[in-house]
Amino acid sequence: MTKRNDASIKKMADLLRQGATMLAQGCPQCGSPLMKMGDDVYCTTCDRRIVVVDSQEQAESQTVKALIPELHEILLKKLKTLSDVIEAENDTEALTKLANLMVLLLQSLERLEGIAQ
Ligand SMILES: [Zn+2]
Repeated sequence: MTKRNDASIKKMADLLRQGATMLAQGCPQCGSPLMKMGDDVYCTTCDRRIVVVDSQEQAESQTVKALIPELHEILLKKLKTLSDVIEAENDTEALTKLANLMVLLLQSLERLEGIAQ
């Protein structure tokens, strides 16, 4: 065992004595178990505070949230295009299909705005 590991384990033990808890999650840098002390999460091997995302689910929802402005813009562009097509269309059957599509796009937009809040 290296000195670095030794120090890290001693520090881990110290933190545990101070009431820290060991997380199941590993350090994104080195893979060592992370220690949680209050609201702070530490890696004793890297000897630094780690900002962690609580769960996979949260990470995914943040990825989705990052996409929202782009998706929002795409949907608005499609709606604009669709409104031009609808304006030019006179066939009832075609209009019914176009109207359904518009409703779907509007629902998507509404849902997207719901997630964004
Ligand atoms: Zn680490």
